[in-house]
Amino acid sequence: MKEKVNAIIELLKQRYSDAPCALHYKADYELMIAVRLSAQCTDARVNLVTPGLFAAYPTLEAMANADISDVENHVHSCGFYKHKARDIVLACQMLLSDFGGKVPGTMEELLRLPGVGRKTANLLLGDLYGVPGSIVCDTHCMRICERLGLSKGRDPEKVERQLRAILPPEESSDFCHRIVLYGREICTARNPKCDQCELAPFCTEINKSQGSSD
Ligand code: SF4
Repeated sequence: MKEKVNAIIELLKQRYSDAPCALHYKADYELMIAVRLSAQCTDARVNLVTPGLFAAYPTLEAMANADISDVENHVHSCGFYKHKARDIVLACQMLLSDFGGKVPGTMEELLRLPGVGRKTANLLLGDLYGVPGSIVCDTHCMRICERLGLSKGRDPEKVERQLRAILPPEESSDFCHRIVLYGREICTARNPKCDQCELAPFCTEINKSQGSSD
């Protein structure tokens, strides 16, 4: 398994030399907001919405004092806009009241923030703090890792544990970013491009996934 994991990591690195977060942000709290908006929404949609939101509320203090109904208007197209707008404002208020205006750097603290679950917390730990072992278990990650025989099932917490047991901790955050890119480009949910897939030698589902849903 170790050799297989390392080979997959290297092949992904060859395809994607960088492993950028797909969400656009400048400040740490902006990433927290963008990740909250990305739930059940595409990163591309979030990146269209956040410039207007961040321009309207250009500081953490401004966001914490924002009128929730106005934030709802900004984020409406991301879906679940009422929950997202409320979480964004309340989380920004908590950053100021409890964390000195910084996104905290531990899982325990992050999970106290409204709207922040393990997926968001892992992404923030990996991207803001470079914490080894951060695993962002999104739909691309679970689908592709299952196809590659690295994990089983679609329960994010279980898959996170399975991947933590086999991925080198220092590689895990970048691995997850690259897997998302691969999931968009090659190993798509429906009709994956198996004929263009360099990971095919490791795949347990090659050619079985044509037409599958996610
Ligand atoms: S062979 Fe096909 S299903 Fe398997 S990892 Fe590659 S693209 Fe995905």
